[in-house]
Amino acid sequence: MSVVQPLVGVLALQGDVREHAAMLERAGARVLPVRRARELSEVDGLVLPGGESTTMSRLLESFDLLEPLTERIEAGMPAFGSCAGMILLAKQALDGRPDQRQLGGLDIVVRRNAFGRQVDSFEEDLEFSGIDGPLHAVFIRAPWVEKVGDDVEVLARVPETPAAGAAAGRIVAVRQGQVLATAFHPELTGDERVHRLFVELVRDKR
Ligand code: GLN
Repeated sequence: MSVVQPLVGVLALQGDVREHAAMLERAGARVLPVRRARELSEVDGLVLPGGESTTMSRLLESFDLLEPLTERIEAGMPAFGSCAGMILLAKQALDGRPDQRQLGGLDIVVRRNAFGRQVDSFEEDLEFSGIDGPLHAVFIRAPWVEKVGDDVEVLARVPETPAAGAAAGRIVAVRQGQVLATAFHPELTGDERVHRLFVELVRDKR
């Protein structure tokens, strides 16, 4: 493994920024909170945290970050979105607000708040492609992925148990090239394996 410490940004407009920063540091990265285009231009990769995608979309516009961020993602900057971050990275979001903007790094269709009101929040152990052993996943008003394009790799699904109901088999983690996204929150569990995977990806890309 390379000892290079990449500089990974965490989009710091809203959401669980500190939790991601802590996990990235544990995974061997240096971390920069990103609120301005200049900061964005310095990082080797970017994490888009969980929070509220409609709010983050609005803040991206008012901080003049929407365009430079879309451009960097198009140019191949590694990005990792959790929950609201996944929604922002998707090409299309169902049940979003009409003025909600998409960054489009992932050729997927997501449904916001897909798991419904009763199961607002839940936890589940998942198999995650590229990670050994079960991964404990925390879902909070999470989206799921309804459709993936040909270039998208499915990394995790909700297990097909009777208790899972309509959620059984739903796609909850994907990767397309250097863009990674989870419907759940790996930053909240104390298990930094997903962040390690992302930091590795940023290292490879440098
Ligand atoms: N439901 C939120 C949204 O639409 C996402 C929730 C989360 O990030 N925990 O943005």
